Order: sequence, then structure tokens, then C-alpha cells
Amino acid sequence: MKPDSNCIFCKIIDKKIPATVVHEDDYALAFEDRNPQAPVHVLIVPRKHIADIHSIAVADRELVGHLFFVAKTIAARRGLEKGGYRMVINNGLDAGQTVFHVHLHLLSGRSFSWPPG
Ligand code: AMP
Ligand code: ZN
Repeated sequence: MKPDSNCIFCKIIDKKIPATVVHEDDYALAFEDRNPQAPVHVLIVPRKHIADIHSIAVADRELVGHLFFVAKTIAARRGLEKGGYRMVINNGLDAGQTVFHVHLHLLSGRSFSWPPG
């Protein structure tokens, strides 16, 4: 998928709007959520614009796996393994997806309830 000029995360990736970037590599970017729901709330996004989980192609499988690798790298750097952390993907409107560029939420620094709201 081509970058979407209306996509806020594509704009962050292209440095057209600011974000607090905590990790950057050839395939993914991670930055602080602007409306954090926990003491640690980082979003991990592929550089490639993929609107949602259903838009993931066979060729994207390694890229999507990379998002988890980035998440655990950030978690390790911040020493989150002991207390644990939650990773969330809201996919589709009913699940609460508001930005249609696939992203992994990495949340930590407090305890989380289950089932999710
Ligand atoms: P979701 O609702 O799962 O699609 O998550 C979108 C997340 O993106 C929300 O947690 C927002 O707070 C966050 N968000 C939206 N715009 C920005 C931005 N410009 N910088 C950082 N985080 C953002
Ligand atoms: Zn995008």
C-alpha cells in the first residue's frame, strides 16, 4: 500500500508532524502515544501503510512479526519484563480502532484488568 496522505501515522513516519520517537529502523517506527492510557504507552507502526489487520498480505508477514520484535526490544530496554506489559491491537470500529494504519500498543507501568472493556 502506498503512503496515505490523510493518514496521521504516515505523516509521523514522514516527519511531517512531530512525535516522540523511541525507536526507528528500516521497517518500523515507535513513538509515545499522545494520549497515554498507562505510564508506558508506545505505538509501534510499520513504515508501510497497511490500513488494518485484514489488509495484511502474505508478503507482510515478516514485517508484522517485526512489530512484536520491536515491542519486546523496547520492553527490554525499559525493564518491563518483570512487571509485564500488555500489547493491544484494536482492529475495526467496534474494537475501537481510530487510526487506520496498523499499530501495536505497548502498555505497561500499571496492572490491567481482564476482560478488556
Ligand atoms: P487506536 O484507537 O487503536 O486506532 O489507536 C490510535 C492511538 O493513536 C490512540 O491511542 C491515540 O491516542 C494515538 N494517536 C493519535 N494521533 C496521535 C499522534 N499524532 N501522536 C501520537 N499518538 C497519536
Ligand atoms: Zn498510514
